[in-house]
Amino acid sequence: MSVEPDRDLSSELASPKSGLQGFPVDAICTGCQRVHVKQVRPEDVGQSVNVDPVTLEAAALTSFKHVCHRCGSATWWNPTAVLSGLIETQRSAEE
Ligand SMILES: [Zn+2]
Repeated sequence: MSVEPDRDLSSELASPKSGLQGFPVDAICTGCQRVHVKQVRPEDVGQSVNVDPVTLEAAALTSFKHVCHRCGSATWWNPTAVLSGLIETQRSAEE
């Protein structure tokens, strides 16, 4: 069973802590193990700039550097899931 509290991924994504550019992934801080939605650009995670993010698997993504507000500095984050549902929501909002 998961010990994660219920999370609202779309409000995490809307938070400035998720970053400003890219597509949403769920990620874990390698410093404090905090889990948070982050936005990454394909090139941040070792992918081609023109890739369609919904086709990506989290296992194929590299670690990326992002600010962790609990650590108080930029740390390395490991992507654990590509949030394709949120990507689709963003797309339909843009149309
Ligand atoms: Zn951290």
